[in-house]
Amino acid sequence: MDYRVLLYYKYTTIEDPETFATEHLDFCKDLELKGRILVSTEGINGTVSGTIEATDKYMDALKSDPRFEGITFKIDEADGHAFKKMHVRPRKEIVALDLNEDINPKELTGNYLSPEEFREALFDDETVVIDARNDYEYDLGHFRGAIRPNITRFRDLPDWIKENKDQFMDKKIVTYCTGGIRCEKFSGYLLREGFENVSQLEGGIATYGKDPETKGEYWDGKMYVFDERISVDVNQVEKTVVGKEWFDGTPCERYINCSNPECNRQILVSEENEARYLGACCHECAEHESNRYVKKHNISDEEKAKRLENFKQLV
Ligand SMILES: [Zn+2]
Repeated sequence: MDYRVLLYYKYTTIEDPETFATEHLDFCKDLELKGRILVSTEGINGTVSGTIEATDKYMDALKSDPRFEGITFKIDEADGHAFKKMHVRPRKEIVALDLNEDINPKELTGNYLSPEEFREALFDDETVVIDARNDYEYDLGHFRGAIRPNITRFRDLPDWIKENKDQFMDKKIVTYCTGGIRCEKFSGYLLREGFENVSQLEGGIATYGKDPETKGEYWDGKMYVFDERISVDVNQVEKTVVGKEWFDGTPCERYINCSNPECNRQILVSEENEARYLGACCHECAEHESNRYVKKHNISDEEKAKRLENFKQLV
């Protein structure tokens, strides 16, 4: 374990994101880091992997930059890089919520809950805990009893809230996400929409899982991460599996992308069913002429036809 994966963000003013991105990319490449960083006038959002020495240098550099004062890093140990390339991209937002009128979390955001306060809120009858992530993230793991918005992109969350507002308008709201960045904006949005009591898990699930007091307690399943690891453990107290296999509903934590490149949907699929259904989410995708599974495994037309028959046995 002589590598690390860092996860971090900071809402702060970056005057010229384009220039910053170019220079920051050079800096990261000099350190031989790999990963994905978004920068905008509203701040920085990144996840990178590198050696212990390189990540130390990187964290020191950011911490000593007055723009990033107080930045916190969630650190995972790793046995190698978690990314193939290094990107630093200037963007309009560091997390795309795409509101007509943007939220500035430095001006409007929910109360911050420590891991211990959050754990208490999980069992408060007056409180509703909303998972601020996407459905495929929730499906692999989530806090016990948390509400699952059925969205595939963060920017669809405001519409989902509008549709479901009545359910929790008079409740206390607590939100959480992977590292905390999405909740900074989302909780601000909820306040602007008229919710009165809104809080967020400070530092996100990543911090909660490493907290010496909570040890990730009441987290079920695994946490989805946006790098080559795909998922990591959170709960140090007990292990459960909540992921369900796409075809047969058995416990499963193995994500694949649908083999139809035009679909690419993330589904939890066992190795056995991946072969059986040609790596696809549905018959239409399995049949698709660009099916990656068929190409990769050199499946003959005859064999393809045979496996397509398997879809007929599904209900
Ligand atoms: Zn598909």
